[in-house]
Amino acid sequence: MKDLKFDTKAIREGYRTTQEQEHSEAIFLTSSFVFDSAEQAANRFSKEEPGNIYARFTNPTVDAFEKKLAALEGADACVATSSGMAAIFASIMALVESGDHIVASRNMFGTSIVLLNTIVSKFNVGISYVDLGDLSQWKNAVQDNTKLFLLETPSNPLGEVVDITALSKISQANNILLAVDNAILSPALQNPIKLGADVVIHSATKYIDGQGRCLAGAVLASEVIIEKVSAFTRATGPSLSAFNAWIVLKGLDTLSLRMKAHCDNALKLATWLQDQNQVKKVHYLGLESHPNHALASAQQSGFGGIVSFEVKGGREAAFKVINATEILSITANLGDTKTTITHPASTTHGRLTENEKQQANITEGLIRISVGLEDIGDVINDISKGL
Ligand SMILES: *Cc1c(COP(=O)(O)O)cnc(C)c1O
Repeated sequence: MKDLKFDTKAIREGYRTTQEQEHSEAIFLTSSFVFDSAEQAANRFSKEEPGNIYARFTNPTVDAFEKKLAALEGADACVATSSGMAAIFASIMALVESGDHIVASRNMFGTSIVLLNTIVSKFNVGISYVDLGDLSQWKNAVQDNTKLFLLETPSNPLGEVVDITALSKISQANNILLAVDNAILSPALQNPIKLGADVVIHSATKYIDGQGRCLAGAVLASEVIIEKVSAFTRATGPSLSAFNAWIVLKGLDTLSLRMKAHCDNALKLATWLQDQNQVKKVHYLGLESHPNHALASAQQSGFGGIVSFEVKGGREAAFKVINATEILSITANLGDTKTTITHPASTTHGRLTENEKQQANITEGLIRISVGLEDIGDVINDISKGL
């Protein structure tokens, strides 16, 4: 389906039915598969004959999700995982060896930092952190044993961005793989592989499901890389369940429509926030006032659904705004139809020291909104209650 546009692929790619001729894809809730004969079993196990053996290796529902997501990201292959964290861990374990070194952006998803510092470090893998957008820091952090650049662009909650194409030139020149966690934008708004990245990682828990129903993840890359990642998931077990695969498969059908609506709502909210007396600063990539607006306009096809803003009066004022809301969900989750509100300094970034928070611009007055799909007028009214 090479010549088809994104929205058509999102609905049609990999579509197939069984002899029952169901229109919506079936869910294959089975842990194992049977063989016609002992010979067929032997051929499946020796890989002479392709086909399913056991659901930790492959499952038709999971396969449908993997094929569709690969088409949407412009990747050759995909392996789905039980969560976004499983996807990140599987990528790292497949691509680095003991004694290697990783350069990662400082402002990644909090659990990704915890994973690097407390689990990956146990395997004698060195880790250096750099500021996402500063190409010279990436270059200077490269060592002889550096094998992986790992980052998230744009960052959450402030919308820092790195030029993926420029960074890929540095990684390629040094034989380093560039892996981008694309959960914040989804393939509907950014395709890092087309910009020069080697690996894309997803928490499908976020916008790909988009409705807060399940955990899921995925790694996308060349066939050679994905073979290594799936060797890891086959042996260690963080495979995606068929039921969750079906949910995220259905999520892809409406992804691009939902992302457009998230972006429209987010821009309306950010624009309104800019005019409020009690608001010191608004961080949204779609605003021309954002320092990364031009770069984001060039490499993304939308600015996403995350808006953050700083209120005057520090933590007390921020808590007042959060507690005065009646519709919004007070939760650190994001990428949902429901608008969520959180105070990063005391939740998602609570593990940082005062100094690190200051460096990262996570101030006490900062509030993060993951803008959902409710009527944006109602969301704005709800936020205005405590301002
Ligand atoms: C949520 C998130 C993850 C982790 O995904 P899970 O599905 O919760 O394991 C990783 N990266 C980013 C950017 C996220 O937002």
